[in-house]
Amino acid sequence: MNNDVEQKEVDVVTSARKFVTLMLEKAVEVCEQCGKCPASCPISRHIGSFNPRQMIAKASLGRIEELLKSEVIWTCTSCLKCGERCPLNLSPYDVILILRNVAIRAGYDHPIGYDEFINTVIEKGVPQQPQSVRTRTGERRDRASLGLSPATSPRDIEKFSETLRNIIKGRELV
Ligand code: SF4
Ligand code: SF4
Repeated sequence: MNNDVEQKEVDVVTSARKFVTLMLEKAVEVCEQCGKCPASCPISRHIGSFNPRQMIAKASLGRIEELLKSEVIWTCTSCLKCGERCPLNLSPYDVILILRNVAIRAGYDHPIGYDEFINTVIEKGVPQQPQSVRTRTGERRDRASLGLSPATSPRDIEKFSETLRNIIKGRELV
């Protein structure tokens, strides 16, 4: 790793600490570690190392880098059950989203599918083209046959792509 890359990583992690601390001030100070979030999390049920309560605890202890390097932040399914069940209206999911955002900016490993997903949205304006579905009787149905209007995409795809690229490039951490 060259010096520029190392410096960038240090800068981003420093910014991440500030950002996560700011954004999560409420969560890390208020979380009572009651355990309701892992109890309701479908992933925690199947993967012992995935625990939203523990992620909040690590964030509160400043162990941000450890979280950024960890695979667990990419394992969440975004089901939002943790936030729904939290008696204090905290959202471990928001913590995970922030950590993912920061991990990508710092250049840590992340699932390749995320890059493909973002590139598809930038280039085509939609995450994927509508798919036909198979009914219980084995019949294939598309949007029109289900009475749905045609799927739309940006009218000016070039302008859309350029704007999105600029937004992604211009977003800064605090
Ligand atoms: S449910 Fe809420 S209070 Fe309980 S451990 Fe999870 S985040 Fe903390
Ligand atoms: S949003 Fe993520 S952390 Fe929260 S319950 Fe669902 S899978 Fe678990």
